[in-house]
Amino acid sequence: MTETPAPQVAPWPDKPLAVLVIGAGFSGLAMAIRCRQSGIDDLLVVEKAGAVGGTWHENTYPGAACDIPAHLYALSFAPKSDWTRTYAGQPEIAAYLRELVERFDLTKHVALSTAVTGAVWDGARALWRVETDRGPLEARVLVSGMGALHHPAVPAIPGLHTFLGPLFHTSAWDHGVALQGKRVGVIGTGASAIQVVPAIAPEVGRLVLFQRTPPWVVPRNDRPTGPRMRALFRRLPVARRALRGVQFWLREAQAALGFTRVSGLTRLAEAASRRHLRQQVADPALRAKLAPPYRLGCKRVLISDDYYPALTRPNVTLEAGAIRNLTPDGVTMMDGSHHPLDVLVLATGFDVTASLARVPVVGRDGLILARAWGERVAAHRGVALAGFPNFFMLLGPNTGLGHNSVVLMIEAQVEYVLACLAEMRARKLAAIEPTPEAQARYLAELEARLSGSIWQQGGCASWYQDAAGRNIALWPGTVVAYRRSLREPDWSEFVLTPA
Ligand SMILES: Cc1cc2nc3c(=O)[nH]c(=O)nc-3n(C[C@H](O)[C@H](O)[C@H](O)COP(=O)(O)OP(=O)(O)OC[C@H]3O[C@@H](n4cnc5c(N)ncnc54)[C@H](O)[C@@H]3O)c2cc1C
Repeated sequence: MTETPAPQVAPWPDKPLAVLVIGAGFSGLAMAIRCRQSGIDDLLVVEKAGAVGGTWHENTYPGAACDIPAHLYALSFAPKSDWTRTYAGQPEIAAYLRELVERFDLTKHVALSTAVTGAVWDGARALWRVETDRGPLEARVLVSGMGALHHPAVPAIPGLHTFLGPLFHTSAWDHGVALQGKRVGVIGTGASAIQVVPAIAPEVGRLVLFQRTPPWVVPRNDRPTGPRMRALFRRLPVARRALRGVQFWLREAQAALGFTRVSGLTRLAEAASRRHLRQQVADPALRAKLAPPYRLGCKRVLISDDYYPALTRPNVTLEAGAIRNLTPDGVTMMDGSHHPLDVLVLATGFDVTASLARVPVVGRDGLILARAWGERVAAHRGVALAGFPNFFMLLGPNTGLGHNSVVLMIEAQVEYVLACLAEMRARKLAAIEPTPEAQARYLAELEARLSGSIWQQGGCASWYQDAAGRNIALWPGTVVAYRRSLREPDWSEFVLTPA
């Protein structure tokens, strides 16, 4: 009788690791793969969920899909030829990320169901002492891939918790709740809502969509990728690379031509979006409710071909008034009207700084990360932080994108971290961290570029901004410019501490 081999699990390290990565989404997996390819095997990725995938493990709501073409929303060093659509759905992306573990032999480097609860820099031993809910770990280098769109932003609506029916956030979809024939409320009209609403509208009894601000929506043009095309990409990788290149440069051109500012391109895109609305919504009253009162690009531009049509269905109501409170059986509006509901979905997005700020990370001389970020959430080149030696962030402050795939940013950052690790080895360094001066210089340049950006000048408030209205989420330029700024680390920007 052949014995079933025991599943391979990461052994718990009993000595300091070379590299500890927190989170197994795109960021953590990319870091782990490139570490191993660079000869760093003394590596562990800790992931609090029971599976890898991050965003794509968690967001299983109906209609969940990427809004960047799948070939571009994949790691350049781990391509996939057989995406079944232009914009892949969540199951396909989650499967892709799970497959990376096997494809790159990472199983023994990934500890699932392990949450990091704190990390303290031990200057005397030049290592990070990391607390997890499975026990302590030590590592010379700590890399955060904890994700920005991870902690739900729960709106402060009076009476939220008095609602007696099922209530859940899109990122924690309760698949046990049957929606057929039910009265369902969806709060929010961002990227998740515009995917959820068309997906559930045909099956629910009534759907009330609560809108605070209408989004700009442009055509999506999603298509299935047929077997012939997939076979072509498999046999002829150059064809897939060419398509990815076209998709990349089309988006880069948008940023280069002024997508990040109020420009001629803004006016053109606004005209295209208004045309899309006119073509899909005949009712002038509904159209008026759907007209955004700010410039296109100020908030995330949404792509959809079925959102507007869903809102014209007889069983769907767009409620554009202000919510007063929730009651046990529904939502009451400021004008006193009431929407009785059976189920309420919060499509209210995420608290972008919560992942890192919620974990106590203590750097040199007892500096607490949440306090270092008291003035402004910031990082040197979006990756490293003065006062926090041997600590790197992937998809850190101001490195998200409004126009292109963030996977490109993650890859650039991973290479930057690898360059730092190589320098540490070559010069036999105990520690590396950016100088406060270099970080302040970088931040000043960033702020100068952001101040004229569409996110600040476009007449809206968005989740890109902190409480003081500063954009802490997005990179104000092209991916090419960001890559260039990371390509050759300038060692004069760092404090290099010899072993
Ligand atoms: C619905 C949705 C659609 C999106 N679509 C696109 C798109 O089309 N194009 C695009 O460019 N971007 C998109 N994004 C942004 C997306 O988040 C990023 O593209 C990418 O998935 C981020 O990967 P990540 O690994 O940095 O973070 P995440 O995927 O968030 O992964 C972070 C991981 O860290 C783990 N973690 C967090 N804290 C701890 C802890 N204390 N201890 C241990 N583990 C921890 C989490 O469990 C999670 O697995 C989308 C986001 C959402 C929510």
